[in-house]
Amino acid sequence: MRFSKYYIKTLKETPKEAEIVSHKLLLRAGMIKKLASGVYTYLPMGYRTLRKVENIVREEMNKAGAVELFMPVLQPAEIWQESGRWDVMGAEMIRLKDRHERDFVLGPTHEEVITDIVRSDIFSYKALPINLYQIQTKFRDERRPRFGLMRGREFLMKDGYSFSVDREGLDKEFDNMQQAYSKIFSRCGLDFRIVDADSGAIGGSGSKEFHVMANSGEDELIFCDSCHYGANVEKATNVITNLPKEELKEPVLVPTPNIAKIEDVVKSLEVEIERTVKAIMYKDVVNDKPYMVLIRGDIEVNEVKVKNLIDTIDIVMLTDEEIQKLGLFKGFIGPYGLDLKSKGITVIADESVINIPNHTAGGNQKDTHYLNVNYGRDYTADIVADVRKVKEGDICSICGKPLRVARGIECGHIFKLGKKYSTPMHAVVLDENGKEVVMEMGCYGIGISRTMSAAIEQNNDENGIIWSTAIAPFIVDVIATNMKDEAQVSLAEELHNLLEENGIETIYDDRNERAGFKFKDADLIGFPFKVVCGKKSSEGIVELKIRRTNETIEIEKSKVVETVKELMKKY
Ligand code: ATP
Ligand code: MG
Repeated sequence: MRFSKYYIKTLKETPKEAEIVSHKLLLRAGMIKKLASGVYTYLPMGYRTLRKVENIVREEMNKAGAVELFMPVLQPAEIWQESGRWDVMGAEMIRLKDRHERDFVLGPTHEEVITDIVRSDIFSYKALPINLYQIQTKFRDERRPRFGLMRGREFLMKDGYSFSVDREGLDKEFDNMQQAYSKIFSRCGLDFRIVDADSGAIGGSGSKEFHVMANSGEDELIFCDSCHYGANVEKATNVITNLPKEELKEPVLVPTPNIAKIEDVVKSLEVEIERTVKAIMYKDVVNDKPYMVLIRGDIEVNEVKVKNLIDTIDIVMLTDEEIQKLGLFKGFIGPYGLDLKSKGITVIADESVINIPNHTAGGNQKDTHYLNVNYGRDYTADIVADVRKVKEGDICSICGKPLRVARGIECGHIFKLGKKYSTPMHAVVLDENGKEVVMEMGCYGIGISRTMSAAIEQNNDENGIIWSTAIAPFIVDVIATNMKDEAQVSLAEELHNLLEENGIETIYDDRNERAGFKFKDADLIGFPFKVVCGKKSSEGIVELKIRRTNETIEIEKSKVVETVKELMKKY
């Protein structure tokens, strides 16, 4: 492909709106162009890479026994009402009406459509398991579309769905998909980790995320380097080390004028932060019911865990006004010295608070705290659970070693849905005994466009993108250093043709520009290799430059194809 005939529009300046490196480089390298917030065109170069990621996904899904189909983006409201998600999905779902005023949505995901298909086609356990997938544009009106392809409102996803007759069948398909996903991300040349993920209100143990490791990642991940534990912080757990037992003292109310923050309380009362309990007030957004969450002073509340525990769509902290209305004093709230039941407050205690002898807590009167409060003797909670946020250095619950925090970009998510959709949508088959059973479903997503930008986030330098050959738009860029030198130009053309004939996707930069200018573009776009026809062209010798390592190898023209083929295995 000749550069001049292709559509490559690189930019010198970085567009202001780009915050992270992948977004900047996708724009500067002319891979994508913004149409609206979270909505992008894939320009020809970017589209090649997108298709390559897509094909790796397709090949591995097919190898794993999944079958491809293609479902509509435009979906009638009825199936969403049937599954119960019409009212739950909220503003993220793009809704529209047709000319007859019937409600439709632009599919954010396809559980409803696939369940509707399978329930009308499959009646016997003999046809199971099946695993169907598609590669399709998804629409989500994200609250904060950002970072270019990372969080778009229109994006490309591979979504797959498995149907099994029982839990065992589902477990098997889930493991099968985990293996397929590992192959996909390995083939894309990415450093990734699999972590336990939050499975929301659905519960169950079966949800894993595939994260491409990068400091700019939106997700905080918790790892143990000693054992194999890895979890999204939303889900991660740790072991609480209990303080030694001691004689219980009587509670004492002490003045703490204007001292509300835990750090200040600790200083003023000269107590250890590990011997304090914070009380944080939340409400369930569905029914406005108030909750008091108790947690050790030095630990943060994990709101996702609280939300799942009380099985609701979302929780929010109470406002100052709402706190006042309940007769509480912000900054001085505690579990002791108050009739919580009569106020209709449900108390949730994190496991960290139940074994702190003689702890400090809010006094429930303005400007006061209690010393020597004890769980069990002075108060109890309605629910004791793990609602804490794990942090660096906390203790691994599997092997007891310290945990580590790293950041990642969620590029894949596999999920045991169980009967969440098949029950309300009545997707059933007859089992071996002729008995009707509800199918067990799994769902498996990969963000194709997000994976493309995650690859850049992980593989770049000050000059631009560094593609692995598996997903690079072109493998080789052929450059003649002097376009007026006939020997150079004819060798460049010859090598370009030869590489293409050998199935190696090659760009020949035939522009009448200086070599340095072309090198800059080549590095920005991130072609894995440059073949440079310079002064030794008349002797049939060229330079082969490796983008990832900056190495230059001098070779004879007859060796170019085989050398590139060999290097493609490595990079
Ligand atoms: P996130 O927590 O990042 O919003 P999600 O949990 O909503 O992701 P899923 O519903 O599991 O995502 O979708 C499957 C995959 O689709 C994700 O793992 C991710 O790679 C991709 N994806 C989800 N939302 C977006 C988006 N707005 N833009 C690009 N890719 C996305
Ligand atoms: Mg999302």
